Amino acid sequence: MLDVKVELYNTLSKKVEEFKPNEAGKVGMYTCGPTVYHYAHIGNLRTYICEDVLEKTLRFIGYHVKRVMNITDVGHLSSDGDTGEDKMLAGAKREHKSVMDIAKFYTDAFKSDAERLNIRWPDVVEPATNCIPEFIHMIEVLIEKGYAYIAGDNVYFDTSKLDDYYVLSSQNEEDLVVGARDDVDEDTNKKNKADFVLWFTRSKFENQELKWESPWGVGYPGWHIECSSISMKHLGEYMDIHCGGVDNIFPHHTNEIAQSESYLGHKWCNYWFHVNHLNTTNGKMAKSKGGFLTVDSLVENGYDPMVYRFFCLQSHYRKPLEFSYDALDNVKNAYDKLVNRLSKLASADEKAADQADFEKYELEFAKALANDINTSSAITVLYDVLKADISDSTKKALAIRFDEVLSIGLDKAFSDDASVGGGADGVDDELKSYIEEQIAKRAEAKKNKDFATADAIRDELLAKGIVIKDTREGTTWEVQ
Ligand code: AMP
Ligand code: ZN
Repeated sequence: MLDVKVELYNTLSKKVEEFKPNEAGKVGMYTCGPTVYHYAHIGNLRTYICEDVLEKTLRFIGYHVKRVMNITDVGHLSSDGDTGEDKMLAGAKREHKSVMDIAKFYTDAFKSDAERLNIRWPDVVEPATNCIPEFIHMIEVLIEKGYAYIAGDNVYFDTSKLDDYYVLSSQNEEDLVVGARDDVDEDTNKKNKADFVLWFTRSKFENQELKWESPWGVGYPGWHIECSSISMKHLGEYMDIHCGGVDNIFPHHTNEIAQSESYLGHKWCNYWFHVNHLNTTNGKMAKSKGGFLTVDSLVENGYDPMVYRFFCLQSHYRKPLEFSYDALDNVKNAYDKLVNRLSKLASADEKAADQADFEKYELEFAKALANDINTSSAITVLYDVLKADISDSTKKALAIRFDEVLSIGLDKAFSDDASVGGGADGVDDELKSYIEEQIAKRAEAKKNKDFATADAIRDELLAKGIVIKDTREGTTWEVQ
């Protein structure tokens, strides 16, 4: 374990606190997963990237992390206040498919986005529809304990039973708006404005496809119960960190705390980690607004998903981040330069890294991240390494180690296909960048098994007096 004190901003205490897990060296972490009625947009993915960095920082330092995520495939209505249309049903209608087909399609799409962004797939990923008996059990206990009531054939959580319902958010009864939209009817079955649905039995959606038997009649679960129940199923009664985007603070996470702690009879989760929103010039990026950007849109516009990840890492997770293609272009330039600089190290001889230098910078990098996941400072440590008076082998080893957290594909700088420069004496900058461009094109051609193009590029460079060689560390070149 590295000797680093981890400090995290905790939404519960509203301050930066030292992180101390329940069990030394072990972390139980829960993430609210996507609602799979549409593609994840790059705003959702900002949240998942930042959560991934948190998880990997803890692993980097030496913690054993178990991370659990749900997939919301039932119960999430268009307003988080339990009113409006069922999001999954709306997705199914939009695409003339069944709800389960939609859920499968968009879960797979999310998995592919996560892969392309180097987001580690959590240790446990559980769709809500897998856990109906667990939800029913939890609701039964809440009714037994007097925290829930039945009205209008639905089961509601009674928030008036709690002294500190608003423990996580700064909302209060007066400014509480039930439902995010004006055109949504208020639910008159509720005893208190803030009460929320645990189980819907009288479905207001005529063609609701997903329904299950329950002690209260055929119906389906509310959205909030799934995260409490799924996290407890896999992480037990005490959890270290719960994550999500800031829009989850109220009502979703507030409701999760209310029902979990009422069910358990003790404190449930110690640290709450919330990522601020990705915005566009029109405000928060949202699936419901349409016109949102996905990983596919970035790729179609010629951006490597790694550039988007690097873009997210440049700013702090607690600050809103404004997306624009101009800003992304600047990051793309910086990213290309970084990979190119690293690729020059690949020609470093195979001497072992210097242990003392390696440990010094490894600790510096860990400290930057341990300071409330300060990714931009961590990136600065990487640039410091590149400038430092240490061996190229140590620099290379550090870049690979740092990429365990940054996960921006720095290893590509050291792969066989990378250009690593070479005997450049007497070659001007313009020719140098032309050679490197050609080498990159040749690598791409080889990757696509287009060997004719690859050979033609090599011959064309040879005609200019440039000899290229494929080595284990990448492609080198020299003047003949
Ligand atoms: P959803 O699929 O809508 O349940 O959202 C998945 C995750 O993305 C949740 O943690 C949300 O809080 C988060 N999220 C939603 N919109 C944004 C946004 N514009 N920027 C960052 N995170 C977001
Ligand atoms: Zn959740």
